[in-house]
Amino acid sequence: MASAPEYPPQVTLLLASPYHLALDPMEVEAGKPYPPLGPLVSAAELLALGHDVRLYDATFARDMEPFQLALAGHRPTRVALVADPHAVAVKMCTTAQREATCAMVAAAKAAGAAVLVAGPDPTDHPEPYEAAGADVVVAGEHDGALRDFAAGTLPSGRAPRRPNRHDLAQLPDPAWDLVDLPAYANRWRSKHNRWELNLSTARGCPYRCNWCAKPTWGRAYATTTPERAAELVRGAQARGADAAWFTDDIFAVKPAWLRAFRQALAGAPLPFRCNTRADLVRDGAYVHDLAAAGCHEVWMGAESGSDRVLAAMDKDQTRADLDAAVARLRDAGIRVGFFLQLGYPGETRADVLATVAMIRRLRPDEIGVSVSYPLPGTAFHDRVAADLRRANWTSSMDNEVLFAGTYPQAFYDAVRELLRAEHAWLSFRPSLSRGGIRRAAALPYHAARWPVHRAKVAVLGR
Ligand code: SF4
Repeated sequence: MASAPEYPPQVTLLLASPYHLALDPMEVEAGKPYPPLGPLVSAAELLALGHDVRLYDATFARDMEPFQLALAGHRPTRVALVADPHAVAVKMCTTAQREATCAMVAAAKAAGAAVLVAGPDPTDHPEPYEAAGADVVVAGEHDGALRDFAAGTLPSGRAPRRPNRHDLAQLPDPAWDLVDLPAYANRWRSKHNRWELNLSTARGCPYRCNWCAKPTWGRAYATTTPERAAELVRGAQARGADAAWFTDDIFAVKPAWLRAFRQALAGAPLPFRCNTRADLVRDGAYVHDLAAAGCHEVWMGAESGSDRVLAAMDKDQTRADLDAAVARLRDAGIRVGFFLQLGYPGETRADVLATVAMIRRLRPDEIGVSVSYPLPGTAFHDRVAADLRRANWTSSMDNEVLFAGTYPQAFYDAVRELLRAEHAWLSFRPSLSRGGIRRAAALPYHAARWPVHRAKVAVLGR
């Protein structure tokens, strides 16, 4: 049973984002760090309610020392460790990030604070955080529990899932001033010659892909208003951002919302990238609005070139949808990124080769390749639970099949390399930019390795 809170109201709250970029080699390599949007919006809300809130952002910390200094400096009575539910990197729930968060819990407890933990991993796995000493572990959306924790009215123990918020237009601007925005801008610009800031217009996703974990918002879907979304864009422009990344699982699910958003921008769009679905962008009018609103690149969960695998995933999209979508996007001048997945249960070598063929046919501008990752709470996880070798990757670089797959790990490694080599050649466009020179320099390597990958796929896929 929940016990009464043992800590007083109206004291200093240290709101901490526990994600450590240094523990995520893939994201370090990408050089595209984003500030912790969820904690920044929460900080703005709590400040507006009159709470004494300080923010600690672990993104660029290399060890625990800066957090120890923040504890010693602010001497908070309460510490809330809130992983950003909008961040894809956070949703991976690697053990390296979990251990770092647990170390922060222990440090905050040792400093005498009451500690709350929230985020996708604590939702699915509260036990390690409780063992580290957390007083409260929140399931699902953190907003309501965090408000009560700040006010001193939240009982210790597990904070059960509450109904999701739908008043997204009432959310304040993220408290950008509480993080080191220039540090983010410098990382971006030193590698990509531009700085992209993350924005959110929606929470949740109404689609049903059966491997996709949605620990925070489930299948519910809520959006802000198009007018408020346009204000957020103007806010990013005012901060000096060159572009925006919409963190929404799927941006602008409703065509009428997109049309109103484009109109609300009043002709001053900021270039942006977003996630979308093939069934949305096969519509010409929709893609026209997307481009007119400033979209220059979309990422789609293409997943597989095999309709059989797409159907097994409950993806509700086909190879024909992907073909039509890419044609529409190309016509509108929008770049295309594909997320691809290997090793879904039942996938055969022929299915894998269909994915390779799709990359040759559609030539996406970017690809991201991963093996299927069973996340708790999904039908896919339930399907392979009995065959799991371990529950989590240590870091996002692992790319290891966690269950007894159809083929050996070396097969999937070879397919991934084959896809990368093919894509490097097919998507190559001469350019004198830093990225263009890097890509050109890598081409001889890919050419030399291509027959090796091809042979490995043939032999290991028997
Ligand atoms: S994969 Fe994308 S479209 Fe499918 S449920 Fe997840 S977020 Fe939604």
